Amino acid sequence: MIRTDRLTEILDLLVARGLIHAGNRADVLNRGREQARHILLDKRAEMRRLLGRHRVDYRVTEVELIAFFRFRRADDPDTILDEETITRALADHVGLPFVHLDPLQLDYKLVTESFGGPFAERHLVIAVAETEQALTVAIADPWDTELLESLARFKGKEIHPVLAEKSRLLQVIIEFHGFRRSMRKAEEDFRSDLPDLSNLEQLYALDGAGELDATDQPVVRAVWYLLNYAFDQRASDIHLEPKRDEAFVRMRIDGVLHTIHRLPKAVYPAMVSRIKMLARLDIAERRRPQDGRFKTQYKKYEVELRVSSVPTAFGEKVVIRVFDPGVLLQDIEQLGFFPRELQTWRAMLGNTAGMVLVVGPTGSGKTTTLYSSLHYLHSPRINIVTLEDPIEMVHEAFNQIPMQPRIGVTFGSALKNVLRQDPDVIMVGEVRDAETAQNAIQAALTGHLVISTMHTSDAASAIGRLLDLDVLPFLLSGVLIGVVAQRLVRKVCPHCAVDDVLTEEQALALRIKGARGRRLKVRRGEGCVKCRYTGYRGRTGLFEVMPITPRISKLITDKATQQEIKREALNDGMLTLRDYGIMKIAHGETTFEEVVAVTDDLPLY
Ligand SMILES: [Zn+2]
Repeated sequence: MIRTDRLTEILDLLVARGLIHAGNRADVLNRGREQARHILLDKRAEMRRLLGRHRVDYRVTEVELIAFFRFRRADDPDTILDEETITRALADHVGLPFVHLDPLQLDYKLVTESFGGPFAERHLVIAVAETEQALTVAIADPWDTELLESLARFKGKEIHPVLAEKSRLLQVIIEFHGFRRSMRKAEEDFRSDLPDLSNLEQLYALDGAGELDATDQPVVRAVWYLLNYAFDQRASDIHLEPKRDEAFVRMRIDGVLHTIHRLPKAVYPAMVSRIKMLARLDIAERRRPQDGRFKTQYKKYEVELRVSSVPTAFGEKVVIRVFDPGVLLQDIEQLGFFPRELQTWRAMLGNTAGMVLVVGPTGSGKTTTLYSSLHYLHSPRINIVTLEDPIEMVHEAFNQIPMQPRIGVTFGSALKNVLRQDPDVIMVGEVRDAETAQNAIQAALTGHLVISTMHTSDAASAIGRLLDLDVLPFLLSGVLIGVVAQRLVRKVCPHCAVDDVLTEEQALALRIKGARGRRLKVRRGEGCVKCRYTGYRGRTGLFEVMPITPRISKLITDKATQQEIKREALNDGMLTLRDYGIMKIAHGETTFEEVVAVTDDLPLY
């Protein structure tokens, strides 16, 4: 039960730190005992439900009790004093590190094998790191020295305690050990019939297509967790990869693949089955590749997930692509344009006829720019038709047509049919062959705004590519409005950004004029929970915006070289992708490494 001496100690500490008022302190001391009884009843009922058994031990802690009052913070009345804040203050007070437990960053094997479930549950302890000499354990009660002493004896190692929120600790214990228990149980039940656990999925199939029963809830919850974590981190892809002894969960976050979690091999098939079930794939079929999709809700958005499974040497590999409208569709102000370039881009989109191109390699953000620009243009007065391969995001204001090359529906052929649909704006997924290029130019010539993408490294080379596709120079010079080359760079995490300087070598490598002997102030992320210790959070665009001026138009007609065209555009004030990157570095938005990574393939003229 609640110990008054400890409760008073924590309350005094919170008052001293300016987190609560003396009145709050009195409130807890007066009404605490009664409240603690309510919490206990609620929590017991919740635990019974979660654990699926009648007998549960539960002790309400002093921190939990104070958090239950939901006081407004004295130093910040808009914020509620939560368990995390109290636990952090307590950790600081008793001289222990605080740890924010993230279930997906914990080592499943270490957590489930260091202590048994009932022990972990009773003593509220999990192992979070282990070396030869020491075991780091997350605990909720800093006064339980007895626990730490017995752990040291029992493990024969130094024990390094860190303090965690009790509710998170309990959640991890219930999920991890619950997961393990249900896997074990399934293994026991089916051992006689089924030689290996990969057949566990047949159990679900036999069960009917409905939900798993309560003992399998950990699998359901683990998948739910994984998806929510992916959405939180704005992951674009989730990979589930079986290996010989375990399985990996990797996520592509801001364009970079990170290993997020390791799963025990025994658990893997159940998770894969759950995902396949959600995507309405054939669970029993494991030798043929399959594709499916499902939708789920995240915050206020509907997120579409495309699931693809393929057999590999160690089992099925599953990749889930996340089509998050929050990523694909943005205000064009948020794409990363500087004011002048944004104005030029808006002016290009303001034309009622002609062609606008966005160019760059795969993954450079072209689709987001296109969708966001079409969204900017859409109104009841104009008819927007898109030809896409595949449709990445459904937007009710666009008339979206998927390409089906197998039955002859290609960009080139569909363009002709679409003209009969009286479009004002036509988006063509990509210009990659002569037929598409020529039909797109025709559409642009006959009074439509055509927006498309190409795979070229910079703006000027798009012109050369179109001429290579047998587009006639005088037609091209007549319809081309502008070309934008694009790259994506990761943004410095705003939560852990610190001042830094660009070294002279770096400045020279970027060919910054007047860099010699100067130290330019920049920003970099030190790494924090919010950015998964990468120092980056979110991405922004670098843009090379090349409007086709009368002089450039003449150069195209005269079959000038790409270099001549680029030189002319630079004279008009165009920033190259690299210049754009340098400006973003100078603004503290991104880093030297990011800009070099996406622009080092470019010619320096
Ligand atoms: Zn950060």
